Amino acid sequence: MAPFCCIVPEYVLRAIVERGVAPQNTINACHSTIEKIRQIQDARIQHGQRTESAQQQQVAEGIIPSFIHETIAQHAATAEQRETSLRTLEYNTKLRAAAGTLRHLKRTVYDAQNSWDFKNPPKDKVMIKEGGVLISEEEDPTGNANECYIGFKKTYDFYFDFFKRDSIDGRGLKLDGFVHFGEGFRNAMWDGRNLIFGDGDGVVFDGFTDELDIIAHEFTHGVVQYTSPLNYTLQSGALNESLADVFGIMVKQWAEDPERPQTVDQANWLIGEGIWAEGINGRALRDMRHPGTAYNDRFVGKDPQPAHWDDFQELDVDNGGVHINSGIPNRAFYLAAYMIGGYAWEGAGPIWYKALTSGKLGENATFKEFADLTIENASEHAGKIKEAWTRVGYPFPVKRAGQ
Ligand SMILES: [Zn+2]
Repeated sequence: MAPFCCIVPEYVLRAIVERGVAPQNTINACHSTIEKIRQIQDARIQHGQRTESAQQQQVAEGIIPSFIHETIAQHAATAEQRETSLRTLEYNTKLRAAAGTLRHLKRTVYDAQNSWDFKNPPKDKVMIKEGGVLISEEEDPTGNANECYIGFKKTYDFYFDFFKRDSIDGRGLKLDGFVHFGEGFRNAMWDGRNLIFGDGDGVVFDGFTDELDIIAHEFTHGVVQYTSPLNYTLQSGALNESLADVFGIMVKQWAEDPERPQTVDQANWLIGEGIWAEGINGRALRDMRHPGTAYNDRFVGKDPQPAHWDDFQELDVDNGGVHINSGIPNRAFYLAAYMIGGYAWEGAGPIWYKALTSGKLGENATFKEFADLTIENASEHAGKIKEAWTRVGYPFPVKRAGQ
């Protein structure tokens, strides 16, 4: 069983411990988070956990969400615009009916009550479940349960509306979220079955449920698990991480402000924006447009992501640099989306989704193999997609000694 993703990579936690300038409580919490991640990974490897085999998923072309067309139709400046939006609405409705996919959104958010038991996290305290109303501030002082519940729906809707995907497995998998996991657990993760969130500390980490892209990132690890189970190491692991960022950023651009979905040039392309507590010198955890520039702080060090194949890092840490080298395919996606323009989920997004769900992506896929798959699935955009990859080092020649 492959190791799992934690949104805050171990090297970030380790940098905080090794630099030793953060408050002692934070250092201790980061240290114990590293230990716990290791224990959880060891336990998972020992016990094994069946990963369902990859299935080829049906892909529907990107559709503008209905609410956008409804808004355009209401506020259309010209009769022609209104007519176009109404026609598109009608078309979308027909397309959905034809696709025949039923929605099976089923969310439950539990209070993990600071338990570390990831194999059987406690389910006796349900905070909110499907169909329930958001809970009060007294019941959810940190807002984590409501944020998790809302984030699940937005992410589910994104996959359903644009890719006709019914939940993580494409077959309505129940979405179980656990908040307040562990004590001093500075992280969020998809563990193969559940989405799990620790608490922030307000000193270095501000919390993990209020960033929609973090929830969508972890959700997408589940989607990757069920479509192209990329080994979580080296290039395939960096592709796995990058795909989680690619879909995470699109969910953020589409739904963070449902009134104003963002085009590729309106968006800031930051993953984990707001993850750092006040006083930390960082914009985000990662920057897809300019990898390597998201943070530079005395407590946590500098963002180590490369933006080009020339700077690919051969590493022993971080499963061979999965959260580090993902900067390269992340920037390729940004460039591809930017060159096509408009909304990422209508341009480059469907091309990446087709590649992910093509059934042709091997467990040890390389950047080159993934890039070729996107070019193959890009139809009229093939030239732009190839150009985007070329600008980050495609066709990724093997480096020679001394280079
Ligand atoms: Zn991840």
